[in-house]
Amino acid sequence: MSRPSAPPHPSSPIDQWPDARGYFGEFGGQFVPEILRPALTELETTFNRLRTDPDFEQEFRQELRTYAGRPTPLYFARNLTRYYGKARIYLKREDLLHTGAHKINNTIGQILLARAMGKQRIIAETGAGQHGVATATVAARFGMDCCIYMGAEDMERQFPNVQRMRMLGAKVRAVHSGTRTLKDATSEALRDWLTHVATTHYIIGSVVGPHPFPLIVRYFQKVIGEEVQEQLKALGHPSPSFLIACVGGGSNAMGLFYPFLSSPDVQMIGVEAGGLGVHTPHHAATLSRGRPGIFHGMKTYLLQTADGQIQLPHSISAGLDYPGVGPEHSFLKEQKRVTYTQVTDQEALQAAFRLARLEGIIPALESAHALAYLDRLLPTTHPDQIVVVNLSGRGDKDMSTYIQYLENQGGEKAP
Ligand SMILES: *Cc1c(COP(=O)(O)O)cnc(C)c1O
Repeated sequence: MSRPSAPPHPSSPIDQWPDARGYFGEFGGQFVPEILRPALTELETTFNRLRTDPDFEQEFRQELRTYAGRPTPLYFARNLTRYYGKARIYLKREDLLHTGAHKINNTIGQILLARAMGKQRIIAETGAGQHGVATATVAARFGMDCCIYMGAEDMERQFPNVQRMRMLGAKVRAVHSGTRTLKDATSEALRDWLTHVATTHYIIGSVVGPHPFPLIVRYFQKVIGEEVQEQLKALGHPSPSFLIACVGGGSNAMGLFYPFLSSPDVQMIGVEAGGLGVHTPHHAATLSRGRPGIFHGMKTYLLQTADGQIQLPHSISAGLDYPGVGPEHSFLKEQKRVTYTQVTDQEALQAAFRLARLEGIIPALESAHALAYLDRLLPTTHPDQIVVVNLSGRGDKDMSTYIQYLENQGGEKAP
């Protein structure tokens, strides 16, 4: 998608990654039991065939348009722009999609792949329940059996999403082992896949896991950045100066960034969850504070203890509470093509209230991390520059956290 005027990034032909073995530089790969390799190869072969098939492309686009609600608006945030008095701020409104976030782009794409492979059963793991709901939704839409693995602890914390999945006809299996959270649900889902691989497709929810998942999820999410390119062009703006997105596993960020990677004049910032602060152990700032290791079938940056155990992440936002990150982000960090930083729980909460009060939009807590970075970036910008923030999801699911914050603030925290 590079424009003729934009030469490739000088230090690396980034569009070529991953290589044939699924590596982004030294990151990625396929760290799985031998028995899963045929399933990953079948997935890769099917994906490579369908990505050049115009009928598949047309069906995917049609589902995005008529079922998910694409294209999403690129909204000029006039009041937020006036508040900072610097660069023009645009919001990419992924919060307006069916099921309330960008995750539906990927689940639609992957269920079409599952159908093409003749699979009739879908499994997934979920932490906060958002990916579980997006998966149960498309399983209902395409008439497939669906089983979602979820930590027992998470099921208690996110009960409304458990109810949604059940209403959509999915089975929700409680995982009682380990810390009873996402990490343990992921192990159970992998175990299920090992036993039922002939009939079952495992829908991974972000640009993580063994090759080819990071490549496939990027492919289905890049519609976000492609629309931003077209929408800015239609407004007479050739190129944004800054793109900002939150990073959990990294799929909404990859989706926004990917079409711009070969444009050296576009700066990109990935914002991780700083939790209670990166000087404490209570954060999820994987790229800022982690070290490379192997987890969830891939080599990537991980939060780990001194002896190499996975360190339990913390974030006020359940969707960012993941100890790893997509391998392509690890690569883009080392290439210095994308800047990774983090904001705290407090900063994210303040940014959410600012957007609500100034623009009448209640963002997801994950997206509020991207918005919070405006506080640091905007003073350094000029009025002729454009900043695009990916508003990855809406805040309905976070209302109890927001209300609690409001009560602690005495009920009327100004923007
Ligand atoms: C799941 C989720 C995220 C984090 O996932 P990524 O793969 O990093 O995009 C971010 N925002 C929202 C609204 C989510 O639901």
